[in-house]
Amino acid sequence: MKSQVIDRIFGCLFGQAIGDALGLGSEFMDKKEVKKYYPDKLKRYDQIIQDGHRIRWNIGAWTDDTDMMLCLMDAFNNGGFLYERAAHNFKTWFNGIPMGIGRHVAKVLCCSDYEDAPFEASKIMWISTKCNCAANGALMRTSIMGLWKEYNRDWVEQACTLTHYDPRCILSCHIASFIINQLVWHSRLLSVDEVLSMTADAELASYIKLAYDSPNISDLELAKQPGIGYTYRTLCAALWCYWHSDSFESGLIDIVNEGGDADTNAAIACAILGARFGYNSIPIYYVNNLHRSDYYMNRCNDFVKIVLGS
Ligand SMILES: [Mg+2]
Repeated sequence: MKSQVIDRIFGCLFGQAIGDALGLGSEFMDKKEVKKYYPDKLKRYDQIIQDGHRIRWNIGAWTDDTDMMLCLMDAFNNGGFLYERAAHNFKTWFNGIPMGIGRHVAKVLCCSDYEDAPFEASKIMWISTKCNCAANGALMRTSIMGLWKEYNRDWVEQACTLTHYDPRCILSCHIASFIINQLVWHSRLLSVDEVLSMTADAELASYIKLAYDSPNISDLELAKQPGIGYTYRTLCAALWCYWHSDSFESGLIDIVNEGGDADTNAAIACAILGARFGYNSIPIYYVNNLHRSDYYMNRCNDFVKIVLGS
């Protein structure tokens, strides 16, 4: 029992970073560009083209999605999640001038009193968008919130609301985190009806049905503008993999070859796939060639000790 839980926790954490790192290869591309640059499909980190956007990262490096997930990781102690510490970690990360940071996250974190009143800063920034900013910047880092044994919706909401105040962001984070929690701790795959029962939002319900009913991931049109970074679209992509992928690797390859917000789509989708199929199902190439893989493994080991000791 315990070894299977550990395998799934590591699967989730490495899935997050691997999806993020390989997804960078097609981030912001449309389908035509993906086919042009990767005619035999994007499968390996060393295929990633070195254009002006991507050359800033080392080959196989994760991006802001996993950076921010690590900020949340460092906000846990034996008693659970401390949002004040997460806010401090976000601000410290922001002050280091991180690469790939999303526009909305940057606007919130640049507030001078962010650490004293993070939720207020987040709310003010959301209101300034006429309450209509529902980007996927919280969903991209939420996977770790599902790994605590006793699922805590309040913590999930806090981890989201620290930068993303929109109810659609909160709901996306809740669904993804709960799915991961059920996979890791209960070996349970939620049915489409169970996921539908988690929301009364008709728009989200249509995205959930789209994920479930589409035979091919290309039916989701993940690279179609506008709104490639919309939280419901990223959740839809992750749900497609959750219900349709028959292995970690097949889901990873499918999603990163769709372009759009590929690093974020793949980060959350592959966190779910890793939680479902386990660390031992991940081809070792993706683990060994992840940039700073040993460092990441050490961080994950420390986190697992906290989770299992709680
Ligand atoms: Mg990113």
